[in-house]
Amino acid sequence: MEQNKIVVTGGSGMVGRSLKKFIPDAIYLSSKDYDLTSEKGVVKMYQDIQPKAVIHLAAKVGGIIDNINKPGEYFTDNIIMNTLLVEYARKYNVDRFVGILSTCIYPDKVDSYPMTEEMLHKGPPTPTNFSYGYAKRSLAVQIDAYNKQYGTKYQYLTPSNLYGEHDKFGENSHFVAALIKKIHNAKINNHKTITLFGTGRPLRQFMYSDDLAYVIKKCISEEIYDSFNVSNSENVSIHEIAKIALRACDAEHLTIEYDSEKPDGQYRKDVSNEMLYKSIPDFSPTKLIDGIGATYSKLDKKLLLTT
Ligand code: NAP
Repeated sequence: MEQNKIVVTGGSGMVGRSLKKFIPDAIYLSSKDYDLTSEKGVVKMYQDIQPKAVIHLAAKVGGIIDNINKPGEYFTDNIIMNTLLVEYARKYNVDRFVGILSTCIYPDKVDSYPMTEEMLHKGPPTPTNFSYGYAKRSLAVQIDAYNKQYGTKYQYLTPSNLYGEHDKFGENSHFVAALIKKIHNAKINNHKTITLFGTGRPLRQFMYSDDLAYVIKKCISEEIYDSFNVSNSENVSIHEIAKIALRACDAEHLTIEYDSEKPDGQYRKDVSNEMLYKSIPDFSPTKLIDGIGATYSKLDKKLLLTT
C-alpha cells in the first residue's frame, strides 16, 4: 500500500513518533489537525485525505491518578473517538483499520495467567482505569461486529504498558517515564533515595514504543489482519524494573523507598504473546535494560527537570 494513503491518528504522540521511523511517508495527525471527538472533525478528516488505511493511535491516555480523577473524560473522549473513526472508515470505504487497545483493559483478575485474547470479556477492568478500560474494550467489540456484519478486515492490537523517549514526563506520566524523571532529579540533586508509589510488588510487562511500531508496520506491509496482544515476555515486579532503571540510568548508588499510602494498581496483567509470534515470528523485543537506557540517553533532559 502506498504510504501516503495511510493516515495515523495520534501521530504526535509517543507511539506515533516511533511509527514515523518505520512508515515515514504516512500522514501523521495531531488534535490540532482534526478534533476526533467531534463528528464534524472525523468526517472532514476522511473527506480531506481519503485514506486507504487508518492506524488509529489517538486516545486520551494517562497515568493512574488522572484516570481516577477524570473517569468521565477517559470514557467519553475514547468511546466517541473510536466509534466515529471506525464507523466513518466503513462509510468511506477504508480498506485497513488498525485500532490500538491496551492490556490494562483486560479483566482485573482471571483464573490463569498470562491472559489470552479470548479472556478480554471475562470480567470487569481494574477499578483504577475502569472507564478507560470499558471505552477501549468497546473498540474491540465494534471492530469484531463490523467484520462480522460488513465483511471488513479491520483489526486491533493490544499492547502492554509502553515507554520511550517521546513519552510524557510531566504531571500525567506513566510509570517508566515517572521513574526516569525521579532518578534523573535524584542524580542531579545528589539525593540518596527515590520514592515510588505503592509496594513495588505488582508485576508488569513494559515494552519499548518502537517495538509496537515495528509490529504495526509488519501488519500493514505483510497483510496481517489478525487481532492479538503485543508484548514482550518479561513480566517483572515494579521493584525489579526500578533496579533495572537505576542500572540503565547509571544511578545504582540510589536506594528505593516506597510510599504505601499510594495505590499499587492491578497486581498483575501479563498477557500471552503466542498469537503475536505466530503472526510475526521474527519479533525481537528490546530488553528493558536496553530500552530504558535508550530512552534516557535520547530524551531531552530539560523535560525531566522538576519545576
Ligand atoms: P499519547 O502519547 O498520549 O498521544 C496521544 C495522541 O492522541 C496525541 O497525538 C494526541 O494529539 C492525540 N489525541 C488526543 N486527543 C485527541 C483528539 N480529541 N483528537 C485528535 N487527536 C487526539 O499516546 P500514546 O502513548 O502514543 O498511545 C498511543 C495508543 O497506544 C493509544 O491508543 C493508547 O491507548 C495505546 N496504549 C498506550 C500505552 C502507553 O503506555 N502509553 C499502553 C498501551 C496502549 P495531541 O498531540 O495534539 O494532543
